[in-house]
Amino acid sequence: MTFQLPNTRPVTSSEQVTFHCKRCGACCRHLRESVPLNTLDAYRLAKYLRGRGEQIDCMDDIFSRYTEPVLLHESGFTVFMLKTAGTDDTCIFLKDNRCTIQQAKPTACRLYPFAVEPAPDGG
Ligand code: SF4
Repeated sequence: MTFQLPNTRPVTSSEQVTFHCKRCGACCRHLRESVPLNTLDAYRLAKYLRGRGEQIDCMDDIFSRYTEPVLLHESGFTVFMLKTAGTDDTCIFLKDNRCTIQQAKPTACRLYPFAVEPAPDGG
């Protein structure tokens, strides 16, 4: 079975794809339950926020304050997605159309507009 995110198309590593960021912030809206924060992301974010003076005692502080658990119904796994706010489900870290955690943003945001998923053979 193959899985493909909506509004996406598969590309190969040999394909050239151009993308120009317009800095409009649109990528950071309508994100409810869509931006995963993995453990390495959480570690990086904890370090960054501590450096900014936030009280972060443990990784749980990151997950409980900034993410919500989402059950992947097909696999039964729970993943942690960045929280959103407002009627347009804007990422809680977007302020004035800018990412306030740019240096420590999650892997999914670093890769965007690309996403990586397992191949049908598991590779
Ligand atoms: S972490 Fe930053 S780049 Fe990622 S969705 Fe939130 S505001 Fe956008």
